[in-house]
Amino acid sequence: MKRLIIAIDGPAASGKSTTAKFVAERLGYLHVDTGAMYRAFTLKVLHQRVDVQNAAEIVKLVPQTTVRLLYKGERQRALLDGIDVSEEIRKPEVTKAVSAVSSIPEVRALMVREQQAMGKNGGIVLEGRDIGTVVFPNADVKIFMIADARERARRRSKELSERGTNIPLDELERDIVERDEKDASRTVSPLQKAKDAVVLDTTTLSVEEQVDFIVAKAMEKMK
Ligand code: C5P
Repeated sequence: MKRLIIAIDGPAASGKSTTAKFVAERLGYLHVDTGAMYRAFTLKVLHQRVDVQNAAEIVKLVPQTTVRLLYKGERQRALLDGIDVSEEIRKPEVTKAVSAVSSIPEVRALMVREQQAMGKNGGIVLEGRDIGTVVFPNADVKIFMIADARERARRRSKELSERGTNIPLDELERDIVERDEKDASRTVSPLQKAKDAVVLDTTTLSVEEQVDFIVAKAMEKMK
């Protein structure tokens, strides 16, 4: 059976990661959370105490940095220069800085190269902002996931409180909307729906319904 490339893009906290993980599990595919890669690179910038607005200094870090995703059983881990940073990359300071760092073309080129190498043989679900537009414009299935901003803030709040961080809902919603604006307005590979992507509004859907929808699309393609 053909091993597909499935691209899931969409704004922050729209449910991409959870859904992509289960879709990959159901199909026996690899799941690639490309946001984790941008977050890991951003962590390096913060560790090096480089100003996130200083693109020239950030570009200098590109040749000295490796960002990899590693699979331990069903858990995906993010490695920065060989060190597991999977927990650290979820911290609010990384979330605040990541859009500025990921707007730099040289940073994107590094990540896109890695992602294309991982997906070249298919059998993969990649999620991010530019998968269906830039990384794999010929992906077999393209989904653009959206959800109401308040609902997305609620989901993020639940996720953060499970990690022991509590941030007011209004603040989370403001940060999410602000991050989307930055991601959608950058010049290189902005967050946007690919022309041939199917929009999936997850505001009132359960994870199971989202997964079923995407798996059904994949099955159609495999026929
Ligand atoms: O998906 P997540 O919210 O973890 O992504 C963090 C950030 O990484 C996004 O806000 C965006 O700035 C950047 N990103 C990107 N391109 C991708 C995935 C993420 O620019 N393909």
